[in-house]
Amino acid sequence: MRPDYFSNNSESLCIEDLALTKICEEIPTPFYIYSQASIEAAATSYLKNASDSDLICYSVKANSNINLLKILAQLGMGFDVVSVGELKRALKAGATADKIVFSGVGKSKADLTFAAEQEIYSINIESHHEIELLKDLPNKPRISLRINPDMAANTHPYIETGKSDCKFGISELEALEIAKTYSTEEINLVGISAHIGSQITDANLFIELAEKLKALAAQLKDLGHKIDHLDVGGGLAIDYQLEQQYDPAQLVKDLKSSITEYDLLMEPGRSIVAQSGAVITSVITEKTNGQRDFLVVDVGMNDLMRPALYSARHSIETVKFNDVEVKEYEVVGPVCETADSFGVGHSLNAKAGDQLIIYSTGAYGSSMGSNYNSRPKPAEILVSKDKFKVIRKAESFEDLIRLEEV
Ligand SMILES: *Cc1c(COP(=O)(O)O)cnc(C)c1O
Repeated sequence: MRPDYFSNNSESLCIEDLALTKICEEIPTPFYIYSQASIEAAATSYLKNASDSDLICYSVKANSNINLLKILAQLGMGFDVVSVGELKRALKAGATADKIVFSGVGKSKADLTFAAEQEIYSINIESHHEIELLKDLPNKPRISLRINPDMAANTHPYIETGKSDCKFGISELEALEIAKTYSTEEINLVGISAHIGSQITDANLFIELAEKLKALAAQLKDLGHKIDHLDVGGGLAIDYQLEQQYDPAQLVKDLKSSITEYDLLMEPGRSIVAQSGAVITSVITEKTNGQRDFLVVDVGMNDLMRPALYSARHSIETVKFNDVEVKEYEVVGPVCETADSFGVGHSLNAKAGDQLIIYSTGAYGSSMGSNYNSRPKPAEILVSKDKFKVIRKAESFEDLIRLEEV
């Protein structure tokens, strides 16, 4: 089952109302392609049951293309940023500062000063050191304590962030210490945040987390701090096998019944954009080594890093249906690393020159891309009904060396 904004018109896959083969005639591969309708539907599923004072903050690191941020800002979303660069992108995309939260384990004095000057909704504190840096600033920025909830998310170790031995956040004990040490004149402590990790399939974990945050909030209030919101972190998982669907609208509804005394804040990234995006790549050649058949494609681990970094598996199909024999292939990129592989056992009826679609690549795809092997980053295309536009040009060789000229 493919994401629902893809259909097939017997000859070729379509995205919204456009045949992908038509787009491939105009745009050289590889490229990223996104569906505006699908992004809007995913965002709306989080916004639907949130009240006006709640904040659904799209996590910019999932995909930071400014044209996608503009779409989300117009829907009324806030933004979760983890660097000054992301903060500037969100502002440039039209977000108001009072809808931006700033997380990150290594914020410098310059980062914190900039964020405080913008008067953003909240700076999420991840160490005692940040409190010391902030308390000397002239305007008292709104801050939340990002606690490490010591909960296992049962996901890949690299995207697990809420266990006590992860670098993120501070312990509940340390949060209480901070709340005792600093008076309301010294710090403007207004919230608690936590992020268990990414790819959470069990909605009950969020409810469990909400209970933890409520208990801590009550203690901080007893110490005199005016807690107005609880932030439960990132969003629900998506299914890279394209079988399961998770229900953000129901999750927000359940969280709202649990968190009644505070505004609710969430920071979904992946579940807003992952299924709304795909990579289109061409088969360069087919080859056999030993027992294994390979399809060598023109997209590499520098463009789509998830398989190499997390052993992630993305579904792959041909864009145009043809009648060559179906074989089991390992699909590999051209980069000089054995890790540059999109996995073994892909059943495909493809030959050199054919285009393939790699699904579920809207999140942590282009935003993690690099220029390794001096490969220019690919174009990004946005489809809205029966029109498409380039929302990021393909990089050129000149772009690669521009900053190296002496
Ligand atoms: C990455 C991240 C998110 C987004 O997580 P998703 O799984 O993509 O929804 C949210 N909050 C913080 C602090 C993050 O680091």
